[in-house]
Amino acid sequence: MCGYIFINGKMAADNRAMLSVKDRGFLYGDGLYETMKSYRGSVFMVADHIDRLLNSMRVLRYNLTFDKEYINEAIKKTIARNNLDRTDAFVKVIVTRGIHGAGLYFSSSYRPSLIVIAEKIASQDSVDYKEGVKIISSSIRRPSMGNPLYPHKLINYFENIYAKDEAQRNGAKEAIFLTKDHLVLEGASSNIFYVKGNTVFTPPLTQNILPGITRKAVIDLCRENRIRVRERKVYYGDFVKADEIFKTSSIAEIVPVKKVDRFECGKRIPGDITLRIMELYRNRVSYQK
Ligand code: PMP
Repeated sequence: MCGYIFINGKMAADNRAMLSVKDRGFLYGDGLYETMKSYRGSVFMVADHIDRLLNSMRVLRYNLTFDKEYINEAIKKTIARNNLDRTDAFVKVIVTRGIHGAGLYFSSSYRPSLIVIAEKIASQDSVDYKEGVKIISSSIRRPSMGNPLYPHKLINYFENIYAKDEAQRNGAKEAIFLTKDHLVLEGASSNIFYVKGNTVFTPPLTQNILPGITRKAVIDLCRENRIRVRERKVYYGDFVKADEIFKTSSIAEIVPVKKVDRFECGKRIPGDITLRIMELYRNRVSYQK
């Protein structure tokens, strides 16, 4: 497939989109990214994705050489150039700090690179949504409060891909990060929710997890539809005894979980509340088409 990639202001055929090997993204994993989903040409919660990226750029002291409008235009152009206006697509925006020059500190002379990739994705009719997926605990343990870098979507994603590979080797779709004191934080590429009785629970952002855009959409949908939702610490012992579990992320959306390690969860998959939230979410994404 020959697609087009937006790279530093230009459109390039995907085999011609190039960055220097001296870019700090390549040398040190010094970059940020966003993965979003476009539904027939329109990206769901695009403003929230761009805000998360720009906020991380500010906090991690990248030079702000482009603004929200510019990134939004780059996304629109990439979708149009790849003829993705009538289909669902995966859109990835990448920022790197720029070509390495000075020491390892964040020099004010760096000029960040901006790259946008957009590709078609198949429709989501996988059995995962009907039958649920298995998830496992990663062997990687995080500190209870994470660390101040976890809320940022760094292109240095090694811990996450290592955990994803652990999941795959164990026949699971996702691996979750726990702390030494058995708190559940988040998945390697998703946020985690569980339902007990009539309440939906998810770990709080104060534990330095990624502030997922789908997580936010789910919390908002619950509040708007009078489904009780609480952000509070989640203990593994309570988690595996939940009535329902689901994971959230922009591309996969809301996926019911049928098994955590050796524990089966819930009587019916998807559980009633999970199914309700899946429907509300599907309505919201189709509403914006
Ligand atoms: N946590 C982590 C660690 C992730 O990589 C992702 C995927 N971006 C998520 C949560 C879900 O975030 P979002 O809903 O914004 O896709």
